[in-house]
Amino acid sequence: MHIVFIGPPGVGKGTQANMLLEKHPMVKISTGDLLRESIRNQSSLGIKAKGFMEKGELVPDELVLGLVQEKISTPEAGKNTFIFDGFPRNIHQAKELDSILTSLRSKIDLVIDFTMDEEERIIRLTGRRMCPKCQRTYHTIFAKPKDDTLCDVCHILLVQRTDDNEQVIRQRSVVYWEHTKPLLNYYGERKVLANVDASRPIEKVFSEIEKLISSKKKK
Ligand SMILES: [Zn+2]
Repeated sequence: MHIVFIGPPGVGKGTQANMLLEKHPMVKISTGDLLRESIRNQSSLGIKAKGFMEKGELVPDELVLGLVQEKISTPEAGKNTFIFDGFPRNIHQAKELDSILTSLRSKIDLVIDFTMDEEERIIRLTGRRMCPKCQRTYHTIFAKPKDDTLCDVCHILLVQRTDDNEQVIRQRSVVYWEHTKPLLNYYGERKVLANVDASRPIEKVFSEIEKLISSKKKK
């Protein structure tokens, strides 16, 4: 079974994917993890990928797709449930992924679109804080430290990641929707798309995702 998670940063799709992995025998595929793994294993694709990354260049779609293909084509892969987290990012990748799956006599079974009001998402992202020493994360509204601006453990000043500022988030958002709207249309036409309201509490979102997955499994 193949499930795709789509949603911009801040909607909690990574958290939901990790919660699923803790409870169910599933495999998460994110391009970041795949790239790191291939570089660690020094596979031929990994060596190529490393070259692009060291030059600060984006790793080409074809190479990423090659890594995905390796991962989902292993002999035992047919029995697994795969969650694609943040991949495919665009319609080109989606079409290529479909042709890989077709060659494996498989398909995308479910695409979950994590929706959240854009302003709420920006509040969530801009409120994130991190301890530079122990890497613990906080939120100025949702997960406040005991002492206002200090880490509960290290008692040093919390920092904001530079890409969590509002202007950067809004700029990224424009690019994100440019690629993602056609992607959602593509999966919508294939009748595999489901929306999940990601602004609700984490547990509510989680149980809805579980229901969606089990209803697909019964078919
Ligand atoms: Zn700390």
